[in-house]
Amino acid sequence: MEEWKEQLNNYIDTLDKLKKVINVTSKEEEAIRSLDTKWGTTPYFASLMDANDPNCPIRRQVVPSLKEKENVYGINDYLIWKENRDNEEDRPDTIARQYKDRVAFTVLDQCGIYCRHCFRKEVVVDKSYDLRFDVEEGLKWIKEHKEIRDVLVTGGDPLLLSDEKIEYIISKLREIPHIQMIRIGSRSPIVLPHRITKGLKKVLGGYHRVPIWLNTQCNHPKEITQKTSKAVYELMTCGVNVGNQAVLLKGINDDVETFRRLHQKLLTIRIRPYYVFYCEPAPGIDHFRTSIEKGAELIRDALRGHTTGLAQPMYVIATNVGKIPLMPDYYIVDKNEKEYKLRNHRGEYTTLPNIPE
Ligand SMILES: *Cc1c(COP(=O)(O)O)cnc(C)c1O
Ligand code: SF4
Repeated sequence: MEEWKEQLNNYIDTLDKLKKVINVTSKEEEAIRSLDTKWGTTPYFASLMDANDPNCPIRRQVVPSLKEKENVYGINDYLIWKENRDNEEDRPDTIARQYKDRVAFTVLDQCGIYCRHCFRKEVVVDKSYDLRFDVEEGLKWIKEHKEIRDVLVTGGDPLLLSDEKIEYIISKLREIPHIQMIRIGSRSPIVLPHRITKGLKKVLGGYHRVPIWLNTQCNHPKEITQKTSKAVYELMTCGVNVGNQAVLLKGINDDVETFRRLHQKLLTIRIRPYYVFYCEPAPGIDHFRTSIEKGAELIRDALRGHTTGLAQPMYVIATNVGKIPLMPDYYIVDKNEKEYKLRNHRGEYTTLPNIPE
């Protein structure tokens, strides 16, 4: 059996199995027993958890918490609001649309781990929505909408589908003349790097008019191992570009040191930071959320000027009207008819002439 399938066969999603890997605290146990929620991890990703520290950044993403019962700021029916599922346009459940030229195409609701901070948790983790993941219906809609040039295949984690199913989806999308690029959103390179097999490379690889870009989600430097590095390299050797979409998580990656190490380490394994997301107001994840400004402050204090320019993602807030960038805006300190006063990352000033338009 292929290693990735063995990982899924030995999936850790019961208290007994979890207790074999970590010393489960009484609070964690109570959360698992009392919450009606999907949770679980591959044995590989579980092995990266600290057995004795409930605040381990990986453990907090994997193990349910009693804090999920609290919801002060989360928006109920979040995904209906966020993905504009109640507006006039008639779309299949698989298609989420916020932009004219691109859509998110949800092909399944299974994941390699069930992130406690998931913004799609109503579909993926809580199962409070019953969506139809009818791939044919989605493909038909995309084919009929000639203005769509970019399809973001997402989930759940689309790479948990079989090679055959992935091949089918990719080849059908590539047959559509107006599709210029395919993007895959998958946490597999991080939580199940064994998934990048020869067979999958065959499916994704080779030169084609329609390229494939993959964005993964890595939130903490501890998530990056030799295996991750190899998986990313394998993806690149078959022509797939790999980017990262981190989520800004309180107590996990919201300090300068961790934030910088994360982005530096991503580049050492050839992953280009793409986005850092503000932790969205989905219900039950208040305990992961920082202030809105936090991401911009971290870019200012940890990345911009402090380290390699390639390490800098764009910080965005995903909303019902699209992603809104929020970058540090303190660089222009002053401006008059004659000149601009600018400030750099060390707090030093310089001036440039203000040239009339
Ligand atoms: C995030 C998202 C996209 C892709 O946005 P980019 O900024 O192009 O990466 C497209 N459609 C939906 C519905 C999204 O949520
Ligand atoms: S992998 Fe993505 S969709 Fe799945 S639980 Fe994590 S954040 Fe949600």
